Amino acid sequence: MKKKTIKDLSDADVRGKRALVRVDFNVPLDNGRVSDDTRIRAALPTIQALLDRGARVILLSHLGRPKGKPEVKYSLEPVAHRLTELLPAQKITFIETTDTDEAMKATHDPNAHVVLLENTRFLGGEETNDERLARGLSQLGDFYVNDAFGSAHRAHASTEGVAHYLKPAVAGLLMERELEYLGGALENPKQPFVAVLGGAKVSGKVDVIERLLPKVDKLLIGGAMACTFFKAMGLETGKSLVEADRVAMAKDLLARAGDKLLLPVDAMVSSGLDAAQSAHAVARDAIPPHEAMFDIGPKSAAAFAEAIMGAKTVIWNGPMGVFETKPFDAGTRAVAEAMAKATKTGATTIVGGGDSAAAVAEMKLEDAMSHVSTGGGASLEFLEGKVLPGVAALDDR
Ligand code: ADP
Ligand code: MG
Repeated sequence: MKKKTIKDLSDADVRGKRALVRVDFNVPLDNGRVSDDTRIRAALPTIQALLDRGARVILLSHLGRPKGKPEVKYSLEPVAHRLTELLPAQKITFIETTDTDEAMKATHDPNAHVVLLENTRFLGGEETNDERLARGLSQLGDFYVNDAFGSAHRAHASTEGVAHYLKPAVAGLLMERELEYLGGALENPKQPFVAVLGGAKVSGKVDVIERLLPKVDKLLIGGAMACTFFKAMGLETGKSLVEADRVAMAKDLLARAGDKLLLPVDAMVSSGLDAAQSAHAVARDAIPPHEAMFDIGPKSAAAFAEAIMGAKTVIWNGPMGVFETKPFDAGTRAVAEAMAKATKTGATTIVGGGDSAAAVAEMKLEDAMSHVSTGGGASLEFLEGKVLPGVAALDDR
């Protein structure tokens, strides 16, 4: 179902009105400063578009995991500072109390063009999606915009509840972009369609595998996940991370997937992550009993890259190895670089998953992808085919 976006709002809906905008400013902090402002920058187009159309913008976000009451270390104040730097032409009004009357006053101040309210998770009813809180929040705007894709898989008062009481309730530009790319890949991907899955655990990604398998031309599996499949093939996996309770499922998938499933043919192994300097490549049927696979091997990386470069749609979730520790970043790097090349030749390339996105950012390849999702958990649930409550609550087009 297509959702309304801020582009569907008329000028009468927007001009002089208070836009209550749920953003995802859940950013990492270091010594009271924002250490990665990617998520703040991702929300700027929506904020700017609303300001340009004459709205005043009231921002809601959570940060971290406070337990329904204020905690200084989770204050959004550092975010307000960063936002001031990113929007130098605007005065940012930060409301440091969770008192709704105070907030209400600020939203009616004609000189306050951008208002940031304190952490929504300081409010008791946020995570329980309390109806009274949702109604209270709905009083803070004249219409509702959800641009927090990264929080859309949670039915909280500021992400879901409020959308029932404040209309119109529409998607922001970031939310629209996320749904377009992820939804497009699932609904009508240009073929060949290749999915690349990795990461630590098969168990977290079973539903994604099941959902994608019938749709893709090839499913490439790396990461520790591959080891569970090796086990299912009767191979020695040494000290690699294997999920014993998923071996039967992997066997079943192997039987069903046929030649759609592309597994690594070799592995980078060592006796431990602290012995990374002794890493060496072995064939997948020669993993030494006292060593573990920490990355796909060079032959696999080349085969994966070839499959990716031949695709017209690529969706990637989960690193190919322990990319945080060199040299086990090589497989992940090969996938990212192949995707960058595929983008250049006209393929649609999408990265979902928090760690995969972090790896791409570290390699400075974000701009080389068609889309890097800002929502780790949300993108995974979306790919599993789950309904995201924060999206479902928005007005249909
Ligand atoms: P994403 O956040 O992109 O969805 P996951 O959270 O599923 O990815 O998995 C990321 C983690 O998987 C990384 O911390 C990485 O170190 C780990 N990982 C990948 N391959 C292996 C492996 N072979 N052995 C152990 N851990 C691995
Ligand atoms: Mg992760």
